[in-house]
Amino acid sequence: MSFKLQSLVRPNIWALEPYSSARNEFTGTAEIYLDANENPYENGLNRYPDPLAMKVNHKISAIKGIASQQIFLGSGSDEAIDLVFRIFCKVGDTVITMPPTYGMYEVSANICDIAIKKIALRPDFQLDTDKIMDTIDANTKIIFICTPNNPTGNDIEMHSIERILTEFKGIVVVDEAYIDFSRNPSCSTLLDKYPNLVVFQTFSKAWGRAAMRLGMAFASKEIIALFNKTKPPYNISTLTQKAALDALESGYETMQKRVKILLQEREKLEKSLTKVPCVLKIYPTDANFILIKVTEADKIYAYLTQKGIVVRNRNMVALCEGCLRVTVGTVKENKLLLTALTNYPS
Ligand SMILES: *Cc1c(COP(=O)(O)O)cnc(C)c1O
Repeated sequence: MSFKLQSLVRPNIWALEPYSSARNEFTGTAEIYLDANENPYENGLNRYPDPLAMKVNHKISAIKGIASQQIFLGSGSDEAIDLVFRIFCKVGDTVITMPPTYGMYEVSANICDIAIKKIALRPDFQLDTDKIMDTIDANTKIIFICTPNNPTGNDIEMHSIERILTEFKGIVVVDEAYIDFSRNPSCSTLLDKYPNLVVFQTFSKAWGRAAMRLGMAFASKEIIALFNKTKPPYNISTLTQKAALDALESGYETMQKRVKILLQEREKLEKSLTKVPCVLKIYPTDANFILIKVTEADKIYAYLTQKGIVVRNRNMVALCEGCLRVTVGTVKENKLLLTALTNYPS
């Protein structure tokens, strides 16, 4: 495969001399730190954090089996999404998304003034790979694939992801925010095979730490080096680094247990929903949510809200007409949702 990273990167980013922070220029340990204009009075937060959050990085590296230099840590996946645009796209370039999908790819494209080409998913919510291939041109820099996909919930077939990785010479982002709920393995196992692959994961879903704001990108060490030189120097706060270490050290088993429970609850919910009169269709899911087609989406959404239950109304989204997206909650929450839906006067 003829892959030339430099030809994809914005020339200003390729040439960028990154900000050299005090913590970059001196990395040993000392008695007295007078190099960063910090306040000397200790309160646990008076010093700048480790710019690369290396302790967190090493823990993730061990758990995921991915080399440390192939891991970027950002303030949520949102920062990683923003960075791929700023690293690879200049005005005139285009990216491809496959709606219905996560809204942030388009928002980030708009912020950076990058044109976006949308190739709708097929009715079975899989990729229209032939059409994607036909749409790629010399200006296409990035293709975003979300698997399991939000809001549809399904996994994208691995063979179509691999076809795009093989035939497209630009950057392929595979957003795996929901991978821990999926039956399929992570695409991070393909990193050695495809130098154009960037995988996103997050602490916001299975890890149960949406408020912590920590996202991960896995890619070649060359691409990760570009992420790290482009990001703000101290993008991961000390509070986040501490909470992440705590999650990785003592929260791993809890995370796995809760994922198991949520998967059982998902299955129960899928089964029970088939008996609810106002539910017309339950789409297959590999995530911690279920897309359902209902008789009157707007009315049922309002009805649920009135009962104190908020779901996501996807009625206005193309291919999701009449649909609500329902997150799998606790046993009790799911029961209340089912009762409310069952009692909906039809
Ligand atoms: C929830 C979600 C994320 C997570 O974003 P964070 O910024 O890490 O909280 C990323 N991608 C998709 C598709 C999501 O649904």
